Amino acid sequence: MDIDVAGNIKNILQNLPDGVRLVAISKFHPKEYVEAAYAVGQRIFGESHEQELKEKVGQLPKDIEWHFIGHLQTNKVKYIAPYISMIEAVDSMKLIREIDKQAVKNNRIIDILLELHIAEEETKYGLTLDACRDLLREGEWRSMHHVRICGLMMMASNVPDEAQIRKEMNTAWDFFNEVKHDFFSDAPWFKERSWGMSHDYKIAMQCHSTMIRVGTAIFGPRVY
Ligand SMILES: *Cc1c(COP(=O)(O)O)cnc(C)c1O
Repeated sequence: MDIDVAGNIKNILQNLPDGVRLVAISKFHPKEYVEAAYAVGQRIFGESHEQELKEKVGQLPKDIEWHFIGHLQTNKVKYIAPYISMIEAVDSMKLIREIDKQAVKNNRIIDILLELHIAEEETKYGLTLDACRDLLREGEWRSMHHVRICGLMMMASNVPDEAQIRKEMNTAWDFFNEVKHDFFSDAPWFKERSWGMSHDYKIAMQCHSTMIRVGTAIFGPRVY
């Protein structure tokens, strides 16, 4: 391993404000990298593929909290439902329904975030603000007692323009406050704002993030 994982983690943690947690994104990196981060106290890791996650879960310490950060297909929910700590990128009622169903089977409650699509980049994933409002207004989620909606997740545009990134993150923050007020004012668990990656986590820390998802800045470039 020619990358200083421990040093990188310490560096990020040193500058992490109170109330912001680090999710170390270990996708496409071998388990030794996770172990190096674990050795300096990191306990939350994020993965985006079910198979890879399963392999790591089997080989790594049991007190790791795993977050699923990728696009999750409905037919894969059952594989991660027994152990996943949080599913971050939920963007449809169909997926919420399936997560609830699998959570019931596993006799547990699964924490999720709703993924917003705010960036100007084209992507198939994430809810527009209007679609998210509609999903919440429609209200079926209220009967899903084994899913706990804990907040919002988004990816800002991958651009060099800091002002653009800041604008998108602040849009997400405003929207968080809106839905907190309209739908979750009596839900103390609805408090998470997952935004900020390697290139923009420092901006995210100033834009009301509670969870930064950092891969490359800890583990180096991914080899696909
Ligand atoms: C890969 C990934 C990250 C981490 O990206 P880096 O640029 O390596 O920090 C964060 N969030 C999501 C959703 C990802 O897929």
